[in-house]
Amino acid sequence: MAEKSTESNGKVENLIILGGGPAGYTAALYAARAELEPLLIEGFQWGGQLQNTTDVENYPGYPEGVMGPEMMNQFRAQAERFGTRFITDDATEVELSDGGIHTVRVGKDEYKARAVILSMGAEPKRLGIPGELELGGRGVSTCGVCDGAFFKGESVAVIGGGDSAMEDSIFVSKFAENLTIVHRRDEFRASKIMLERARGKENIDFLTPYVPVEFIAGDDGKIARVRLQHAETGEEKEIEVGGAFVAIGHRPRSELVADQVELDDEGYVIVDEPSTKTKLAGVFAVGDLVDHTYRQAVTAAGSGTKGALDAEWYLRDMPPDPEVHWGTNTGAIVSAVEAS
Ligand code: NAP
Repeated sequence: MAEKSTESNGKVENLIILGGGPAGYTAALYAARAELEPLLIEGFQWGGQLQNTTDVENYPGYPEGVMGPEMMNQFRAQAERFGTRFITDDATEVELSDGGIHTVRVGKDEYKARAVILSMGAEPKRLGIPGELELGGRGVSTCGVCDGAFFKGESVAVIGGGDSAMEDSIFVSKFAENLTIVHRRDEFRASKIMLERARGKENIDFLTPYVPVEFIAGDDGKIARVRLQHAETGEEKEIEVGGAFVAIGHRPRSELVADQVELDDEGYVIVDEPSTKTKLAGVFAVGDLVDHTYRQAVTAAGSGTKGALDAEWYLRDMPPDPEVHWGTNTGAIVSAVEAS
């Protein structure tokens, strides 16, 4: 697998893509086929959320379904086939400009580009209650598909009422003795088909409307109980568990660029829809990083396509100043290069 294949050394890339999920790989595929030779900083844990998913049954073209990690391997290989270069590490700092040269740092290494596509995706939300972080790895998890098999024969709670909670519950119930879905409302946000599948499992129960207020450890330091509060009456009770999964949705991973592009109240990057343009010329944002609503692999891939086309058009209309590549001129773009 290609690792750190490039380091800037003053070179200005056409396009850097930040984030290796469905949106980032698709953007890379399109940009590579447009001969932009994109550099994809795909993250240490490349592949995005699909790395934590088993069967993907709703991506067109896979009538029998496909495993999430296998699909991401194929996305990556397809982008590589046309000349995408990869850095399998996390970007640590970004300096975006408005129409000039953008700088991305990965630790001590520095990369420059005329255009950037932001595709950092989203990550699981936390409840923010006592015990949640402390018992991470000791029975509290945000990924049923990753950790479910560790809970063979246990009583398990899954927190949440959306499709993620249903998917995690259906998967974990294959291993757990019994599983309780704890949700703060009596109505569920999950799609009907997922809810019905969960309801159809003999060892899954539903407990509503309750909010978890604490994960409590047993003598062995692992989770033993979840303290719950009735959402309407305030009554509290505890349930005994050997594991708990928090599946309450995701938040966009926009912290790297938070003070440079516009974000909405929930931290999603604001783009000039239907394009993928941010407020900065030459900076585009795609995938779950901008998407409150759909958040599917296929919509992320479509969004990545738009980002690559927007970047291609931008670069076509903004031919590079030859001096940029020599670093001898005094224009704004050159200054940006020299400033590094
Ligand atoms: P979601 O639809 O936003 O659902 C999050 C759930 O967590 C909601 O039920 C919410 O309750 C609850 N919640 C949020 N914050 C909470 C808190 N602090 N305390 C207690 N409960 C809290 O997120 P998601 O389930 O991750 O799904 C996101 C998108 O991905 C959806 O479009 C979904 O269809 C899709 N998806 C699809 C699949 C699949 O088809 N296989 C699998 C996973 C996800 P409220 O309802 O009260 O707000």
